[in-house]
Amino acid sequence: MPRSTIVTTSWPTGTGSDLAGITTTARRDGDSYVINGSKVFISNGQNADLIVTAVRTGPDRHGGLSLIVVEADRPGFSRGRNLEKIGLHAQDTSELFFQDVRVPAANLLGEEGSGFQALMRNLPQERISIAANAVASIEAVLERTVEYVKERKAFGRTVGSFQNTRFQLADMVTTARVGRSYLDDLLARHSRGELSAADAAAAKFWATEQYVDIVGRCLQLHGAYGYMLEYRIAHDYLDSRITTIYGGTTEIMKEIVARDLGL
Ligand SMILES: Cc1cc2nc3c(=O)[nH]c(=O)nc-3n(C[C@H](O)[C@H](O)[C@H](O)COP(=O)(O)OP(=O)(O)OC[C@H]3O[C@@H](n4cnc5c(N)ncnc54)[C@H](O)[C@@H]3O)c2cc1C
Repeated sequence: MPRSTIVTTSWPTGTGSDLAGITTTARRDGDSYVINGSKVFISNGQNADLIVTAVRTGPDRHGGLSLIVVEADRPGFSRGRNLEKIGLHAQDTSELFFQDVRVPAANLLGEEGSGFQALMRNLPQERISIAANAVASIEAVLERTVEYVKERKAFGRTVGSFQNTRFQLADMVTTARVGRSYLDDLLARHSRGELSAADAAAAKFWATEQYVDIVGRCLQLHGAYGYMLEYRIAHDYLDSRITTIYGGTTEIMKEIVARDLGL
């Protein structure tokens, strides 16, 4: 059965958070582009058969970037191993290699040199979806934790009856409600085409930082069971950790928000 996964690969091996530092090149040769380089940490890289690849087509840091679609059966394209992660085991993450991969010039997405603009235009949508995932995950983790502390007993009473547990959960549930309203407002703005890059960056870092913090506190309320992989909260702990890193780190998101303040 043909596969149809599409992945977007902007992450350059070696250059990290600096998107404009992409070093994978695409050289125009007649009616083709010839691509050389590699990408690391690519979600679904093992399964993808269409790869949207950010490449350097010129020397200008921003204006020299383009997006080209590479079909995975092109000679010279290869996949590295499925990288071993601490969490998110349901999803594969790979390194991809391009060695003299020749694709038709028609595989260029948009104009040559418009890749950076295209990424900037579309990354807010990815970031708001990561924020939405974080808010929904916070709600689910809290629901399960409330159930757990109602059942678990210590000192002859439920863990949920201790003042610390009650205050922690009251605090976290309030954060979840604030997060839900904030997200709903941003999603409405996104639907109207009014979501700015800074709005999406703020939502991404705030929601994912809250998620990581809340999962850690909920794990604490589970005691030793929270450290056991047979308990869902242990997986939440491992899976949540990446959310402040992928899609742009918290620090880079704060840079975007600060730049929008004119700083
Ligand atoms: C599971 C997973 C899936 C991924 N999927 C994809 C994918 O599908 N496609 C894709 O293109 N990429 C993907 N990535 C890559 C991901 O987006 C990057 O790992 C992430 O953006 C951070 O880049 P880096 O790892 O190179 O960190 P680095 O750039 O090496 O940063 C290291 C630290 O330095 C900080 N730092 C860097 N620059 C600055 C600065 N200017 N100011 C302050 N602090 C700074 C960072 O915030 C971070 O704390 C994935 C990564 C993972 C782990």
